[in-house]
Amino acid sequence: MDERRIADRFAGFDQDGNGYIDREDFYVAAKALLAEFSTTARCDKGQALFAGAEAFWQGMAGIADVDGDQRVTRGEFVTGAVKRLRDSPERFAEIARPFLRAGLAVAGADETGVGSEAARRVLKALGAADDAAQEAVAALDADGDGRISEDDAVQGFARYFTVPE
Ligand code: CA
Ligand code: CA
Repeated sequence: MDERRIADRFAGFDQDGNGYIDREDFYVAAKALLAEFSTTARCDKGQALFAGAEAFWQGMAGIADVDGDQRVTRGEFVTGAVKRLRDSPERFAEIARPFLRAGLAVAGADETGVGSEAARRVLKALGAADDAAQEAVAALDADGDGRISEDDAVQGFARYFTVPE
């Protein structure tokens, strides 16, 4: 993965833009999703989302926080996360599954997932630009049935880091 893409992916995780990834970034993402779908943090879906955010952060820290200071710097991200991703993108993506599942539930998922408009709103709430969100949703819905399932989201997350654009 080239420098620009790594910077891009890092920025995606560094939701508050302070130059490192930590637990707060995952909470910022969870709050943005709850706000987008007018869901309270205290309801079951809100609590599941924060639990997913915490698990996602713990997974990321376990892979990439080499010095254990509860922050993932860009250098740690490059050496830890990116290398792990290249070796095993599916396993890396599993750290995101509880968060993605809970996020889709907040966005109104049924057993088949969410529609493309809800998926687009999720990506925009997480900071994706308009056109990027549009493209990503089209790519996620690989079978073209207009629904984005939990597995679509997890696989899309793995692809986002591994497939050259
Ligand atoms: Ca941050
Ligand atoms: Ca660190």
